[in-house]
Amino acid sequence: MADFFIGGRWVASTSGRRRQIHCPADGSPVAEVDEGAAEDTIAAIAAAREAFDNGPWPATAASERGDLLLRVAGLLERDLAAFARAESLDTGKRLVESELDMADIAACFRYFGKLAGQDAGRVVDTGSPDAFSRIVHEPVGVCGLITPWNYPLLQTAWKVAPALAAGNTFVLKPSELTPHTSILLMGLLAEAGLPRGAANLVLGAGPEVGAPLSEHPDVDLVSFTGGLATGRRIAAAAAATVKKVALELGGKNPNVVFADADFETAVDYAVTAVFLHSGQVCSAGTRLIVQEELHDRFVDEIVRRAELIRLGGPFDPKAETGPLISAEHREKVEAYVATSIEEGAVLRTGGGRPSGAEFDSGHYYLPTVLDGVRQGSHAVTEESFGPVLTVETFTDEDDAVRIANDTFYGLAGGVFTDDASKAQRVANRLRHGTVWINDFHPYLPQAEWGGFKQSGVGRELGPTGLAEYQEAKHIYQNLRPEPPRWFSGTPE
Ligand code: NAD
Repeated sequence: MADFFIGGRWVASTSGRRRQIHCPADGSPVAEVDEGAAEDTIAAIAAAREAFDNGPWPATAASERGDLLLRVAGLLERDLAAFARAESLDTGKRLVESELDMADIAACFRYFGKLAGQDAGRVVDTGSPDAFSRIVHEPVGVCGLITPWNYPLLQTAWKVAPALAAGNTFVLKPSELTPHTSILLMGLLAEAGLPRGAANLVLGAGPEVGAPLSEHPDVDLVSFTGGLATGRRIAAAAAATVKKVALELGGKNPNVVFADADFETAVDYAVTAVFLHSGQVCSAGTRLIVQEELHDRFVDEIVRRAELIRLGGPFDPKAETGPLISAEHREKVEAYVATSIEEGAVLRTGGGRPSGAEFDSGHYYLPTVLDGVRQGSHAVTEESFGPVLTVETFTDEDDAVRIANDTFYGLAGGVFTDDASKAQRVANRLRHGTVWINDFHPYLPQAEWGGFKQSGVGRELGPTGLAEYQEAKHIYQNLRPEPPRWFSGTPE
């Protein structure tokens, strides 16, 4: 079985190496896939370049490109069960969550499918009857798309759908831990009629297989979702060839709860905000910032509910959330909690692995609450990417905003209050790319997603998510051409 998709054909890795994928819930082998090397990525870049320079896709009418994306959405819905199962086996997440993800992925393809045909550029007023000027949108070229393991196909769809809508060709490098739904997607794109070479897939470790996508001169744009340290590396590597760079990085997302908020709503969202998918969500509400007078009652209730959360594998009907992605990742979460406690955080619950034979071979970690964390401490500044809530308190509105903005990240945040004006004031002042009021986590394909500060560069989704994959070209025509006579040598 060959797992790379290059130039419209399934090919095996040049090295002949294979990687075993294990389910994080119980360590069981899921499958073996090809493990690439830089040469495989370079071959995929060449195929994408050829398809862009000489293939039909960039010149295909935008409305036809949109139609193809709509067909992909339909095919995803047809194959939803197989995709969801593959995603759950790779990530360990509950099947029901993967099913919801697949519905969101189809919605993303549908959104960009509809948007593609609506983009007609614009005419610019030149201020003169003797000149005509217009802006057209063209594809950027060959795109390198690098994605993480937490929402493998969703993060991929946020890149693939707008890249294709705009007429680009691409090379996709998903996380080496979760390759299966990307493999399945290549099959659907071909079935939907995408021309050969427009979509290419390579698999393997980031520094070998991913790095050429940020370095190679034939790649015009690199779009990356993942950790901050990797994002910095990719941006630095891309600078040598001045590629367009889009980065969707981590977050240290505040959830601001005022004392006047509806208690039941706010507490239930606070639990969901952080413990959904065991905290492996870039926008997880990991920083609870609660008004002083509400603190004791609110945190007691969160602790009570955290202790009731049932852990389990993807197909366990009683499970409410699953394992962490890998043994290495769990060790990172453990080290984060240990350092936070050394720095004075008070462990209210969790802080370890669950007991019970059923958890022994999975990478489970208990929902954890760290109270009394100090601003500027490790617990508050670093992303754990695990099921760990930190608690800070504030006095008034200004104090809440100051604390919520005291982070070098700026991805997302929540505000809970019954005062609608206060909610809007606080939302206006938060330096985060998305702010939810009396809610947490919803996103819409038609609304931009992305980070302020070190949470990223650029936006995915929404009209801006399409514009990221387009060049705006200005075409100006002189309707009454005659010599400009700027220099004296021009004959009269
Ligand atoms: P990661 O940075 O380790 O890896 C992400 C991808 O980059 C993987 O495919 C990996 O193989 C590849 N990679 C690693 N080194 C590379 C290199 N030198 N060159 C090219 N590619 C390289 O991140 P992860 O652990 O997979 O994902 C978790 C992180 O992703 C978290 O920090 C999370 O906050 C972030 N994330 C952000 C968003 C968002 O929308 N902002 C969404 C999901 C995840």
